[in-house]
Amino acid sequence: MSSFVTGQIIEARCSRCRDVTGHVVMACLDGMPIKVECRACGSVHKYTAPGAAPRQKAETTVRVKAGHARAAAVDATVKAEKAVERMAERAAEKKAAPRVTKAEQASQRRAEENEQRWGQAMAVITSAPVPYNMNGSFPVRSLVEHPVFGTGVVLELLPPDKVDILFREGVKRLRCVC
Ligand SMILES: [Zn+2]
Repeated sequence: MSSFVTGQIIEARCSRCRDVTGHVVMACLDGMPIKVECRACGSVHKYTAPGAAPRQKAETTVRVKAGHARAAAVDATVKAEKAVERMAERAAEKKAAPRVTKAEQASQRRAEENEQRWGQAMAVITSAPVPYNMNGSFPVRSLVEHPVFGTGVVLELLPPDKVDILFREGVKRLRCVC
């Protein structure tokens, strides 16, 4: 087994280069280098024989850390992409179906209720509709045929000259002779 001396240039594993590089022996103990300086990177470190396995533990730790960082980065990227997708979807939905306001919803609900009410009246009242005429007289619960609004049922007489008639599209206040 050879003996080493300070100042000798030897091959050793460099912890920074993670490779076998030329090193200058800085200190020896019992003929073995204990401290070396890497000629490639200039770092001074403990001597590690060229044949010794690379410091797996340290490397693995770094790799795991790098892996974690990469995984986190990938995760963050995926999340960001998904967020962008969701935003695009929401924008598309908005375009496809414009938001219905509460007022519009209420108005639609009233229209539906009205039509239901009108349908029920039509089913119950069997008398033949009388054509509407502003000079006509229409008793409550009688049917009226209007050229624009269609068939309606008289809800209420409002003397002296108005009548509320429920048509499919809503209640209309029309002229009449009460
Ligand atoms: Zn080095």
